[in-house]
Amino acid sequence: MVPGIHRPAAVYVDLAAIRQNIKEEIKHLRPDQKLFAVVKANAYGHGAVRIAQEAVKVGVSGFCVAILDEALELRRAGIIQPILVLGVTPVKYAPLAAVNGISLTVPNLKWLQDSEPELSQNHLQLKIHLAVDSGMGRIGFSEDEEFIAANEFLLNNQNFNVEGMFTHFASADSSDDSYFLSQVDRFAHFKKLLKLKPRWIHVDNTAASVFNKRVHSDLVRFGIGIYGLNPSSNPAGPDLKTAIKLKPAMSFVSELVQVHTIHKGQGVGYGSTYIADQDEIIGTVPVGYADGFIRKFQGFKIKVGSEYCPIVGRVCMDQLMVKLPCKMAVGTKVILISNDPQAPNSIKKAADYVDSIHYEVACLLDDRLPRIYYN
Ligand SMILES: *Cc1c(COP(=O)(O)O)cnc(C)c1O
Repeated sequence: MVPGIHRPAAVYVDLAAIRQNIKEEIKHLRPDQKLFAVVKANAYGHGAVRIAQEAVKVGVSGFCVAILDEALELRRAGIIQPILVLGVTPVKYAPLAAVNGISLTVPNLKWLQDSEPELSQNHLQLKIHLAVDSGMGRIGFSEDEEFIAANEFLLNNQNFNVEGMFTHFASADSSDDSYFLSQVDRFAHFKKLLKLKPRWIHVDNTAASVFNKRVHSDLVRFGIGIYGLNPSSNPAGPDLKTAIKLKPAMSFVSELVQVHTIHKGQGVGYGSTYIADQDEIIGTVPVGYADGFIRKFQGFKIKVGSEYCPIVGRVCMDQLMVKLPCKMAVGTKVILISNDPQAPNSIKKAADYVDSIHYEVACLLDDRLPRIYYN
């Protein structure tokens, strides 16, 4: 995919906000805790390499990504800190991870048994973290016998370096702690079964950390907080209060490329879902769902100049139209998503509008939009 550098549309990322959010979180950590910056999915749409470089400047201890390719991208960019792949990597790529000093997640005993010959043939040692499914129902050990067998398999096994053991919470962003606490108990049970001494036993994501859940975690897998967003995802509800101050880093900005008047009875967009009932001024913005700005945004108000204007008609693949209150010049700035958390077009408001969460809105903004860094 080529980034569109010859059209007026881009995702802007405030690097001072990124650094500040990480610094605030590091200050908030307990003395023995470390921060691993989660930069999966192109750093939640913010650009993985650049965000990782900023994170290094403010002293993070390591990184988490979702897939091996994301880890390799960081290594190619010169990132030397530990990197953990949180998802399940096919065993045939275990040697590639080992050669690059990348840590992989172990989902079950079979994964260990199948990856061992791949490693031993190549005389390699792989760094691993054992995943425990304590209630997310996604990946990891969930049966005692299998976990014990994996521990025995790993004792004195030269092909593996057991660096960590972790679990992931399904509802650390909820004010109701009951399910969260059941996961804490289940994980504690697995800790008792350990026959190894991993350096990092970790459970915290952003939510568990910034909502002060009191649970032991040697490191915090700090994701959404880096980007200045509150992890509480109460749909359309008020956010839970975070223990640290977060400053959103992302804005999505374009310009009007055409402004024209349409007359009573004329439609706008595919299917003519909007029909003018008088002479109206329509502005065209050169972004659409192919940029990740989905069709559900029809009707959402974005900022054109100093006015909030509704998107009228269906969002097209590469363009969308807004109804303007008055004639505005071609080239007028359009803020589709604001980094001001109070703005009516903040990413949280945008996510509420399309029945989603800001994580998804940010990740969907794709590579056709250049990322422009400032501060
Ligand atoms: C994505 C992810 C995180 C980070 O979550 P945030 O809510 O963005 O802080 C942490 N741990 C795991 C296992 C994840 O998949």
